[in-house]
Amino acid sequence: MSAAQGNGHLESVRFLTPDGEQDVEAEAMFIFIGARPETDWLDGQVARDERGFILSGPDVGRPKGWPLERDPFLLETSMPGVFVAGDVRSGSVKRVASSVGEGAMAVRFVHEHLVP
Ligand SMILES: Cc1cc2nc3c(=O)[nH]c(=O)nc-3n(C[C@H](O)[C@H](O)[C@H](O)COP(=O)(O)OP(=O)(O)OC[C@H]3O[C@@H](n4cnc5c(N)ncnc54)[C@H](O)[C@@H]3O)c2cc1C
Repeated sequence: MSAAQGNGHLESVRFLTPDGEQDVEAEAMFIFIGARPETDWLDGQVARDERGFILSGPDVGRPKGWPLERDPFLLETSMPGVFVAGDVRSGSVKRVASSVGEGAMAVRFVHEHLVP
């Protein structure tokens, strides 16, 4: 863990390391939390990459047992008709605009899946 230090503005960050406390000079600090995919509950349901992000489209390939004649659509997971968009998708840009765009794209693929 760490603690911010400074007089009126940030001057350093104190880290607690296994070897004790360490001060690192810093003028700014950005907190980046919430970036883990938390997809363990999908284990065995849809294919994921080594970090737990959900594979889709060309990245998922043609999974074993894939029942359709066509390959998975761009945002389609290893489960036919199940699509993924946004941060949880393996290889996604991890930005708001791209997540919203992928959501809109997924709707189009859902239609194509339902009415080929
Ligand atoms: C600290 C930080 C700063 C960022 N700054 C920027 C920025 O400046 N500009 C930018 O464009 N992007 C930024 N991002 C990235 C941006 O927040 C994400 O790209 C965007 O929110 C992704 O949208 P999403 O809908 O894919 O996922 P999320 O916004 O993470 O939404 C997923 C939702 O699903 C819910 N959920 C999770 N699991 C389950 C479940 N099992 N059942 C039901 N609901 C579930 C979660 O609670 C959450 O509400 C930042 C991200 C972080 C963490």
